[in-house]
Amino acid sequence: MAKREDIRNIGIMAHIDAGKTTTTERILFYSGRIHRMGEVHDGNATMDWMEQEQDRGITITSAVTTLSWKKRQINIIDTPGHVDFTAEVERSLRVLDGAVGVFCGVGGVEPQSETVWAQSERYNIPKIAYVNKLDRVGADFERVFKEIKQRLVENAVAIQFPLGKEADFEAIVDVIRGVAYYFDQEEYGSKMVAREIPAAAMDEYHLYRELLLDALSEVDDALMEKILEEEELSEAEIVASLRKATKNLQITPILCGSSLKNMGVRLLMDAIGDFLPSPVDKSEFLVLENGEQKSFAPRDDAPIVLVYKVQIDKHMGKLLYVRVYSGKVKKGDVLINRQTGKKEKIMRILQMHSNKTTDLNEVGYGDIATFVGPKDVETGQTLAGRGVSVELPKMNFPEAVISMVVEPQTKGDYDRLIGSLKRLAEEDPTFFVREDENSGQIVISGMGELHLEVLIYRLKSEFGVQANVGKPQVAYRETILNSAEYTEEFAREIKGKNHYAKVKVRVSGLMGGGSDDSQNKYESAVGVGSLTPEFLKAAEEGALGGCAAGPIFSWPVRGVKIELLEAQMKEGESSELAFSIAASTAVSRALSEAKATFLEPIVKAVVLSPEEYVGDIIADLNGKRGKVVDIQNLGVRQQVICEVPVSELFGYTTRLRNLSKGRALMSMEFLKYDLVPTKVKEAIIEKTRGY
Ligand code: GDP
Ligand code: MG
Repeated sequence: MAKREDIRNIGIMAHIDAGKTTTTERILFYSGRIHRMGEVHDGNATMDWMEQEQDRGITITSAVTTLSWKKRQINIIDTPGHVDFTAEVERSLRVLDGAVGVFCGVGGVEPQSETVWAQSERYNIPKIAYVNKLDRVGADFERVFKEIKQRLVENAVAIQFPLGKEADFEAIVDVIRGVAYYFDQEEYGSKMVAREIPAAAMDEYHLYRELLLDALSEVDDALMEKILEEEELSEAEIVASLRKATKNLQITPILCGSSLKNMGVRLLMDAIGDFLPSPVDKSEFLVLENGEQKSFAPRDDAPIVLVYKVQIDKHMGKLLYVRVYSGKVKKGDVLINRQTGKKEKIMRILQMHSNKTTDLNEVGYGDIATFVGPKDVETGQTLAGRGVSVELPKMNFPEAVISMVVEPQTKGDYDRLIGSLKRLAEEDPTFFVREDENSGQIVISGMGELHLEVLIYRLKSEFGVQANVGKPQVAYRETILNSAEYTEEFAREIKGKNHYAKVKVRVSGLMGGGSDDSQNKYESAVGVGSLTPEFLKAAEEGALGGCAAGPIFSWPVRGVKIELLEAQMKEGESSELAFSIAASTAVSRALSEAKATFLEPIVKAVVLSPEEYVGDIIADLNGKRGKVVDIQNLGVRQQVICEVPVSELFGYTTRLRNLSKGRALMSMEFLKYDLVPTKVKEAIIEKTRGY
């Protein structure tokens, strides 16, 4: 096991095309993890191992890769840059200790880089920035450096700057060490030589060095005194001071290079080790004990592990991507799933290198690894040692807001289709599959159009199932506005045995009157005694199951309270099956007698925009049934928070781009379900019937 202080758990965040994959390839090459460089345009880059990523040239799934560099162990958790994959971004941010932001030296700070950067701010993740592609025509380090300071983080300091521009970009000046690095192109820049900084670049060097020392002395009193007394500062002193300031999110160091031309990536790897924190730098983490938050310091005798991702592998079965927060886990150990209370044996511990693996005997706190063995574990759950009474805070995933109908291309493929979709849903906590009882249709739902498209692609490429898909639609729910009662008696002979149950239920609508809570609720007026606990449980499950399909279009029902008013059993003839079916049927029938309508998903949209466009954006959102709830001035831009129905947001990204000349950006997350206005209800019915 690596020393804990030598571990770096990092993510690489970038706008699509900034060069994340190319940079990662270089990192893997220099660390000896790969021996041949794969280029993105050849379609064989190691990190882009999923087929559709190679197809689209973008990186979607968070693969993790472990490598070593100068005694340090670096775990890179790949972080996607597209908003449709927020769940992937969020879960990698949750387990990272630090991140590298990659920027294009030509494009600079694009709106999407702002989104991911802002997301990482919410998790207080220390970062360094790398300005890439400085060999390209139009590249300008100084401009991008200023943009980063203006739009992302005021306290950014350049610890490097380029010598020469565009095609003449020839070396990188190290502002801390006071040397210029030149790279040997023969071996992908593996040989790097330090030379004296050319006289012509000395003014620039002194300027950047002064900016760096000024920034440091503002946050480091000891260093300031030394500077005031004009003492010589050692390289180690500056590095230590900058490390501390980066870790405390007081300063963000900026580096530069050209990954494609093999310039600067090795220095970036040094900087990851020098400035980004190790797991030891955080001495405590947040846990829940009986629902209450408290701090917990890692302890050898208390293994606590977060499962941040689940993947089904064709050969190994269920892979659990984990981060160990406390204690040690050995191969063969039995841990308890804190959410289910079940024991789970860790059969294998793996270190992942993109799509290859190494077996480990043990992992300790701070490690990121992959477990094989546990079956009954989902994303976000905590595995812990016996006697550990805490769990890690849940990972929150937004609800699906877009759905579409899927059907097999050949009838015989139905079972394979549904089976494959269910497996994909097991891996992805934001993807859902449902079989519509009445129409027999399969409906899938997820976070956005691209999200569903990618899953359909995987269906074909990984499972070999061809499917026809319908148009993406808003994932509406059904609900009722008043209440209704229904009595159902079930009496049938099944396989020579009698099954009997009689129940009376009442359903009432909970939505409206300002209620935001669209969960279904269940109450029983029937006590244990008149019914066995097993029959009561079966009735409850049946009743809630009766909400799976609503009376209008068989969409799931939400925001309903169900009461079991009466229940009757017959000695020797009643069964759980009978109570479950009777309750389910009674609820279905009661729902169709109540006044039904739709619920629509509402998202919380956060728009960031330069002030000059804010007026137009708000006017536009108001026209889309949006409710602006907050406007804040964030210095370089304004933040507008707005609640908007998903149905109004198809194609909104393009619209926002036009409204703001590409300067505004938006992120959104599911907020709640809300009753639809009458006009919208009629429109939904018309559209769905005519479909
Ligand atoms: P990602 O989308 O962030 O993963 O970006 P990629 O690594 O896939 O790079 C996008 C494109 O930019 C590819 O065609 C790369 O070859 C190219 N590219 C990456 N880094 C550089 C660089 O430093 N200089 C130049 N000129 N092109 C680069
Ligand atoms: Mg990529």
